[in-house]
Amino acid sequence: MGCLSCPMMVVFRTGWKARFELFGRVMQTLRTLEALEREGLVTNDPRLAAAAQSMAIAITPEMAALIDRRDPARDPIARQFVPSAAETEISSDELADPIGDEARSPVKGIVHRYPDRVLLKPLHVCPVYCRFCFRREKVGPGGEALSAAELAAALAYIRARPEIWEVILTGGDPLMLAPRRLSKLVAALDAIPHISVLRIHSRVPIVDPRRVTDEMVLALKPRRAALWFGVHCNHPRELAANTRAALARLADAGIPLMGQTVLLAGINDDVETLDQLMRALVTARVKPYYLHHPDLVRGTSHFRVSVERGQALMKALRGRLSGLAQPTYVLDVPGGYGKVPIGPAYLGDDPDALLVEDSFGGRHRYPR
Ligand code: SF4
Repeated sequence: MGCLSCPMMVVFRTGWKARFELFGRVMQTLRTLEALEREGLVTNDPRLAAAAQSMAIAITPEMAALIDRRDPARDPIARQFVPSAAETEISSDELADPIGDEARSPVKGIVHRYPDRVLLKPLHVCPVYCRFCFRREKVGPGGEALSAAELAAALAYIRARPEIWEVILTGGDPLMLAPRRLSKLVAALDAIPHISVLRIHSRVPIVDPRRVTDEMVLALKPRRAALWFGVHCNHPRELAANTRAALARLADAGIPLMGQTVLLAGINDDVETLDQLMRALVTARVKPYYLHHPDLVRGTSHFRVSVERGQALMKALRGRLSGLAQPTYVLDVPGGYGKVPIGPAYLGDDPDALLVEDSFGGRHRYPR
């Protein structure tokens, strides 16, 4: 398939919606096993039906166009979105709610884990469905979206708690709301005087960049509170030309961007790929923020990497990349106890001095 800078790829706009054409063919989001089979992305395997039942399928045309059709089973883009028979294998330590959203949800749509900030999840719809998603048992088309009354109750919860300083809009993907609805939600949060920071977490600029129109960018901007925008990106190939253009539209509007990456076996668990990804993000004006250790999501052991491997990769990155390009490696503690940085450590112990390890593995004594 052609890459996204291919001259045969055309995007037509009507209002804030747009159509994607490749080689003169209108491309739609792939949503069924039959569609994946027609595109040569799966072979006939009866276990795939069970995998597809356990989570919705969606691959946007932009992501489908990036997949190497010669070997989709090993392609790092395909592996993120194409169902696999391995999803039917559930291990005993895997959880339906791996980061404890339910345990920390006082009101529908709100997760309140830390005193000064809350998550607000207006809907559970996404442009793509990532097979490793930590909310894979919640997200899906037509999936739970807050009704007007539920959204009002969630906003009332935030309004009543002056200790809440930051609201993080997540989901699902908040950018799946039409710009008019998103704008109303941003304005409602902006009108709460104790909210100083609004954060939006989204995969849309990466996987469905056509949605990042001027109207959408305008809808995102509060008048008063500071806005930060987190993009979820796992592989350097995801940063194709149209994705970089969408990120530039956000950055040019003065919106600070930060990157979140999930460490995933067979997708980005090697130093070359992570190095390229972090450099590509910084070049696109996205500051790498978190490298997430994969959560204990049911049916995702084929994506899991050991913590030791993750730490070794972070050490290797430290020796290759500037601080600007370094994410923090974090693990979400099951049960809703939040994120913790998990190293690697650079301080060793000695009775008389600290032993400091430099970026290239050298050890040095430092007075206590
Ligand atoms: S876009 Fe985010 S919330 Fe949606 S399926 Fe992917 S990881 Fe999950």
